[in-house]
Amino acid sequence: MNTPKNPTPAAPADEAVKPANFLRNVIERDLEAGTYAHRQWGGGAGDAAFHAAGTPDTARVRLRFPPEPNGYLHVGHAKSICLNFGLARDYGGVCHLRFDDTNPEKEDQEYVDGIKENVRWLGFDWVTPSGDHLFYASDYFDFMYRAAEALVEAGLAYVDEQSAEQIRAHRGDFNTPGTDSPFRHRAPAENLARLREMRDGRHADGAMILRAKIDMASPNINLRDPALYRIRRAHHHNTGDRWCIYPMYTFAHPIEDALERITHSICTLEFEDQRPFYDWLLERLVELGLLAHPLPRQYEFARLNLTYVVTSKRKLRQLLEDGHVTGWDDPRMPTLVGMRRRGYTAGALQLMAERTGATKNNTWIDYAWLDIALRDDLEDKAARAMAVLDPIPLKLTNWADVFGSDAHREPCGAPAHPHHPEMGQRAFVLGPAVWIERDDFLELPVKGYQRLFPGNKVRLKYGVIVECTGCEKDADGQVTAVLATVVPDTKSGTPGADAVKVKGTITWVSAHDGVPVTLNLYDRLFAVPQPGATDAPLAAELNPSSWRVTQGYVEPSAGRLAAETRVQFERHGYFVTDRVAHQLDEPVFNRITTLKDSWGK
Ligand code: ATP
Ligand code: MG
Repeated sequence: MNTPKNPTPAAPADEAVKPANFLRNVIERDLEAGTYAHRQWGGGAGDAAFHAAGTPDTARVRLRFPPEPNGYLHVGHAKSICLNFGLARDYGGVCHLRFDDTNPEKEDQEYVDGIKENVRWLGFDWVTPSGDHLFYASDYFDFMYRAAEALVEAGLAYVDEQSAEQIRAHRGDFNTPGTDSPFRHRAPAENLARLREMRDGRHADGAMILRAKIDMASPNINLRDPALYRIRRAHHHNTGDRWCIYPMYTFAHPIEDALERITHSICTLEFEDQRPFYDWLLERLVELGLLAHPLPRQYEFARLNLTYVVTSKRKLRQLLEDGHVTGWDDPRMPTLVGMRRRGYTAGALQLMAERTGATKNNTWIDYAWLDIALRDDLEDKAARAMAVLDPIPLKLTNWADVFGSDAHREPCGAPAHPHHPEMGQRAFVLGPAVWIERDDFLELPVKGYQRLFPGNKVRLKYGVIVECTGCEKDADGQVTAVLATVVPDTKSGTPGADAVKVKGTITWVSAHDGVPVTLNLYDRLFAVPQPGATDAPLAAELNPSSWRVTQGYVEPSAGRLAAETRVQFERHGYFVTDRVAHQLDEPVFNRITTLKDSWGK
């Protein structure tokens, strides 16, 4: 693996410049050559005869997203969804959502439902005008078994009764060819009888396996008679107790692709060494009359590795079980439910997927890509508002002198968006009691500090200029309030308001109409750029300040939002009302990201 891409990437200036994506080239070449032009489509998944009885396929390409329903999807899956559904969309094709549920033990309906919701949330759909493209690999168990028998009858597969250890020992390694199993040369009829006994539950779990008969001396260890079926007495969520033998992933996956007439089967690089077996198997099944050309082809791309993020279901589960996060949807989790709750948009994930392209090199993508995409997506969409995250009172001590009474409220306003007048205006008031950020005051200013300190003037944004006169402190010397006077005739937008020059402008919320809110200030879950890259326990790599809760104030326009509404708090960043905890009268905001990438600065 390479080190993280640094420095922080700039957003591509020209959207028309497509990032490197070799898969586009592959598809364009196939379309030009007409590789898949004469395919028949039977209207669903099926064997050669089924599709031959169908009609010419109107989908120019078929891709698939094939999750195993054994956990929650994460940002890496989002990359794969955007890639597959995006290529199908761009080339007049269709993308199937296929649950790869051939492994009985770990799968659950809860995950199936969650994955469907995630795909739709990301903006894609398996239901198109040409049909419903939702598939379950377990629906193909009958065909898979039929294919297994056909291979056995053709002398291309055999039942091996060696123990798992013996099989491993005979496989050889990179430098040593494997040696034949004593069962390798059994007659097809005998293998067929054994396979049927396996299927009929006549043998114990693990007593024997079905293997392909290819080449025990192949330099590619995956071709040294790989396992096709194993005995496993386990209840399956779709097929119940009907089967006690289950196909291996490497056998099942090419068949799933072929039955669905997938054209381009895209997977991550670790499957590169499996490709020869993928092709071997499908070609044999064509020869045996079960499948037909043109066959799907497998292409491998580099999985998405994001810095400061782990994308392994096992490690994510561990974080949850060890209590480091509050749930699968903890806003610090890279799960899609977590990222959605954090406030990331489907648009930002799509942009990130597009901009990072598809390559053959395993690199780490800087997390900043995601935040840049988020800002690009929200810049034009999110209304602006003022918020004070770490409040301290500012008392305007001459208010009654300037405005006649402490009861006077000065109306103020601002556009909801600086470049989109159609989004309307925000209205709020200014009075003698104001909330400001604690760090907008320093009793003893440091060099270059231009906010409040005794004797300095600043503008309260959209309001008036004030001059700091001092502060109040408690017995411990902690500042409890900042004191200032209003400079008359400086109200923003009134004639002569700019006659008094100031260097600093600060944001604020009035204590008279400001709304108290809870703010979750999230930061990266991990403190190291490549978590899990060493043997160090994951817990040791966590960022201890990944979550801080504050009680702050927001201006009225942000005080009564529906759940899952995104806003930009001026100076502070993008926030969202929490999907779970937010209530109209008890607002809860999550910080999605700050306005600029401040990491390492
Ligand atoms: P894990 O190994 O953590 O359980 P997985 O990759 O086995 O995850 P699947 O449900 O099998 O999970 O994955 C579904 C699809 O998502 C596969 O096609 C896989 O290649 C793709 N995918 C998973 N992780 C990533 C990633 N980090 N980047 C790109 N694609 C990914
Ligand atoms: Mg997997």
